[in-house]
Amino acid sequence: MQAGAVAGLTNIKNPIDAAIAVMEHSPHVFLIGKGAEEFAVTHGMDTVPQSYFFNEYRYQEHLEGLSEDKTKFGTVGAVAIDRNGNIAAGTSTGRMNNKRFGRVGDVPVIGAGTYAENGIGGLSATGHGEYFIRNVATYDIAAQVKYGNETLDEAGYNTLMKKLKSQGGDGGVIGLDSQGGVVIYFNTVAMPRGYINSK
Ligand code: ASP
Repeated sequence: MQAGAVAGLTNIKNPIDAAIAVMEHSPHVFLIGKGAEEFAVTHGMDTVPQSYFFNEYRYQEHLEGLSEDKTKFGTVGAVAIDRNGNIAAGTSTGRMNNKRFGRVGDVPVIGAGTYAENGIGGLSATGHGEYFIRNVATYDIAAQVKYGNETLDEAGYNTLMKKLKSQGGDGGVIGLDSQGGVVIYFNTVAMPRGYINSK
């Protein structure tokens, strides 16, 4: 139930570290833009020129998207649980393709793209962020477990494969339930994914 998030950064090398710093070293949850960058630098984060993030493959995808209305995603997420049942989830993204300048997606919105609660589960999402925000998707999954006695697996299915799918909300989610059970759902063609345990 601790949370930290940042958005609208341009020069911080590893924004996920800035999100953790917000959680651990500020009374706030969510910092954006210049204030977030300043906070990150104050807490020792490395900065890089924007060219550091340039990627020819992604740039070509962007150009294609301008003419073909193709939505592509580019998010990485992780969920972990320790032997005491402490659950953490993290999500980082540069993009949904062809978004408007200033647009913030679901990733840093706690409960939309990222959520963790001990005893319930941890979740990290990828996909068309607007749908994940409107549906408060990762919290929607957790809430079904908390108040509706669903398993995290059933709840993940309900939210991704029924609710979001019926709205045209493309995406996927990875999660761990309170016992470390792996939950993976996506209503897209593919979603690279994996899991590992102590064995
Ligand atoms: N969910 C992200 C967003 O809407 C995109 C992604 O998953 O790649 O910004």
